[in-house]
Amino acid sequence: MQKWSGAAFKAGKSIGVVPTMGALHEAHGSLIKRARQENDLVITTVFVNPAQFGPGEDYEAYPRDFNSDREFCEKEKVDAIFHPSTDEMYANPQTVVKIGKLASTMCGAFRPGHFDGVATVVAKLFNITKSTRAYFGLKDYQQLRIIKQLAVDLNFDLEIIGCPIIRESDGLAFSSRNRYLSEDERRRAVYLNKALKHGWQLYRKGEKKAGKIAIEIRDIISENTGGKIDYAGVYDADSLEEISGDIKENIVIAAAVHIGKTRLIDNVSSYEEALSQKK
Ligand code: AMP
Repeated sequence: MQKWSGAAFKAGKSIGVVPTMGALHEAHGSLIKRARQENDLVITTVFVNPAQFGPGEDYEAYPRDFNSDREFCEKEKVDAIFHPSTDEMYANPQTVVKIGKLASTMCGAFRPGHFDGVATVVAKLFNITKSTRAYFGLKDYQQLRIIKQLAVDLNFDLEIIGCPIIRESDGLAFSSRNRYLSEDERRRAVYLNKALKHGWQLYRKGEKKAGKIAIEIRDIISENTGGKIDYAGVYDADSLEEISGDIKENIVIAAAVHIGKTRLIDNVSSYEEALSQKK
């Protein structure tokens, strides 16, 4: 991969990379399409990264179907798929990237070490693919925020591009984990987005009290999904700190809930609202 990217780089080609864990779906497709539009060459990486899974999480069960991912990439006219083995990626490493405060809230508070694992693999993927631009979804809002910081802090010479959340017609965000849901869980899962949208509408109608919005979101999620909530609230879009008093501007309303054995996350943000207004 490094030789391929090195040659492309020397030839003056721009490279767009779309890092994924595979089990590709429409949302991955939207990132790939965007990369296709903006770069000479597109690389999709497919790697289920053990370093970002905690004990008891779904590393073993995570869906893997490389043949179907390869077909998906062919249809999307991807130039190269980087699909390394775990041994190739991690041959007795002694170095990790450690994320500070940005990893202490939201998902980071419930998945210790997760974002260090994400940042480490993403740093490696940036070096390996020598990309000009890297594409990430706003569905993983905290991840995108952390990767932008990683690029600044470690002087990666590439552009990080945040892309809108792609949803099913009923509002559920696409996720490789949706395939774990039973029919009944799938019906309940839609209330995660309904709750967040309701929170956003309250905010846009003038509600300034973050606590009030958080309570309403939690109530909708609990009552309708019956799931265990990890977090649900209003956060500063940039620092990711939870807002407890009055909302000023630039927020993300986000939540994570366990529906059965499946942990789902979703958010609505000023960032995404601004993207949709630019169109
Ligand atoms: P994953 O394979 O789940 O690690 O995701 C790979 C990339 O796709 C990440 O940048 C995700 O944020 C993005 N992604 C996954 N689901 C969605 C979605 N529903 N909408 C937008 N981006 C997504």
